Amino acid sequence: MNISGTGIGRGVAVGNILRMAPALEVPSDQLRPSTIEFESASSDVRRVLQEVSADLQKRADQAQHSKESSDAAPILAALSQMATDPALGQSIDTALQGGKSPERAVYEGFNEFEDKLRALGGYMAERANDLHDVGQRAIALLTNSPMPGIPQSDTPFILLADDLSPADTAALDMNKTLGIITIQGSPTSHTAILARSRGIVAIVGAEQAANLANGSRVIVNAATGTITVDPSDEELQQAELHKQHAAHARLLRGKPGSTKDGRHIALLANVAKPEDADAALEYGAEGIGLFRTEFMFMASSTAPSVEDQTKAYAKLLARFPGKKVVIRMLDAGADKPLDFLTPENEPNPALGLRGLRTLRTHRQILDDQLEALARADAQTDADLWVMAPMVADEHEAEYFVTLGKARGLKQVGVMAEVPSIALMAQEVAQVSDFVSIGTNDLTQYTLAADRTLASVGSYQTAWHPAVLRAIKLIADAGNTHGMPVGVCGEAAADPDLALALVGLGVNSLSMTPLALDDVRANLAGHTVQEAQDLANRALSGEFYPTARH
Ligand code: PEP
Ligand code: MG
Repeated sequence: MNISGTGIGRGVAVGNILRMAPALEVPSDQLRPSTIEFESASSDVRRVLQEVSADLQKRADQAQHSKESSDAAPILAALSQMATDPALGQSIDTALQGGKSPERAVYEGFNEFEDKLRALGGYMAERANDLHDVGQRAIALLTNSPMPGIPQSDTPFILLADDLSPADTAALDMNKTLGIITIQGSPTSHTAILARSRGIVAIVGAEQAANLANGSRVIVNAATGTITVDPSDEELQQAELHKQHAAHARLLRGKPGSTKDGRHIALLANVAKPEDADAALEYGAEGIGLFRTEFMFMASSTAPSVEDQTKAYAKLLARFPGKKVVIRMLDAGADKPLDFLTPENEPNPALGLRGLRTLRTHRQILDDQLEALARADAQTDADLWVMAPMVADEHEAEYFVTLGKARGLKQVGVMAEVPSIALMAQEVAQVSDFVSIGTNDLTQYTLAADRTLASVGSYQTAWHPAVLRAIKLIADAGNTHGMPVGVCGEAAADPDLALALVGLGVNSLSMTPLALDDVRANLAGHTVQEAQDLANRALSGEFYPTARH
């Protein structure tokens, strides 16, 4: 039997299912015995919330120092803070004053907060599930129930869960976890983000997997998004071949990206903090193609200082002497709001003030970041390139390039994420040093489909010929004017799409470090002519229906 879902990455794993403990029952709504005073119930709840908070902070600290799970650290730290949020404590106290039992009061208090997050939609709505997990931990402690979370096993397993919270994912024993299947979850859920960054074979949103029994043998094929239950010998052999292919791709690690006939295509890494340089170097990145600087300041309520920023940028640059490092200006807004930049209550934040548009309205923050970049550049020997996100046309490009050059930055460019910039690409190529195409947003805006929404998730593929034609307009303009054009969206991480992008004329590809092996191997197996043939077929829409359905 085959079950389908959304595969994360291209790995294949074979193993036996281990199911995660079922969720706790909803605490009963009956009033607590009158012998339990409000004060004692409230102090019990506070003690338990402190305990949950301390445990989450401990995991955050451990994750911070672990190469495999450092991505989970800021999420866990934020959850630890939420557990002791005074407003949350107040709502729980209100329920306790109404005579509710401690576990019911915790349930209601968290519910209220989860609803508020869900009402905000997008990224914030996804955080509601994380908060729910924190509440469940508190209820388990109050009722002496087994802690919901990852079950223990002495043998390797494929974990099957409804969905995984960041705390669960951080607690995964990587020596035992062969793969993950979740019944809920979208490609942007935490399970997916963390599985991708830790290289775990994963399939999310596999609804029919809900009935799989503990111990069932399965093949999890993330490349096709298929779970094969009770596989035949032949299917097991195929899975083995797939794994060997991955091992072969690893052998090319350390070699520069190149087509079979020798065209160099720089393969770069996407990072969110200076420490990610470790993974980039481990997987043989030739430099950094996208440093998403906003991720460092997600939890800040005030703008970062020039000094703090200089330190962070210099730390990353110092790891890449003589190599290209592309740093993006703060990209705040929509699914990545920053307290100190993003306006509140925009009815449609994806079309609101974000990226360069926000920075223009906060000139001091823009100037401070450019100043920090110039200082970091002066302290190190990397080849620094700086770019602005969400640039619509040549006027905005010129505005930013002029400011960057005035600071003495040598390579100043823009991201192509809005369809208008593709239509103006010839003009943009005359004012910008380079363009980096963000296919995630370019796809979202070209197809008018919110990239965080599962209901329109099937539109999120750069195989759509409209997206590819937009990319071609930019690549053509770049090649006419001698302006480098790279791709740093998720499309670059898909080996087949990466080849098509080379066929369209892009010169560099930047991706999550774990994707580098497969992309490098696919480019090495094909000539430029083959890449162009693939691109031409893709431009006529040949692969879009298959990619979508
Ligand atoms: C993109 O939009 O493709 C991109 C690289 O930027 P982000 O994913 O950070 O929005
Ligand atoms: Mg973007």
